[in-house]
Amino acid sequence: MTDGDMWSHDHGELDDCVRALEAVHAFLHHELAEPDADLIRLHLHACEQCMESFDIESTITEMIRRSQPVPAVPETLVARITMLRRRRDR
Ligand SMILES: [Zn+2]
Repeated sequence: MTDGDMWSHDHGELDDCVRALEAVHAFLHHELAEPDADLIRLHLHACEQCMESFDIESTITEMIRRSQPVPAVPETLVARITMLRRRRDR
């Protein structure tokens, strides 16, 4: 009798993680809308199990990023480029 309860509880948590990890793939490919991406980020930060899985995923993202032009340039890099451009102009 208690087996049923245990299963449904585990399944509930697992279901959340499965959904998150499924969405992670879309997230990595920038196919998720910003609200959905936020939900994934929130779950990953709250769920240790998924964080571990996401560690693997982020390694893959890193690989994808290296072979693709970076869509969002970090501010520090922008500042550096601006500085270099100013120097060149003189
Ligand atoms: Zn999870």
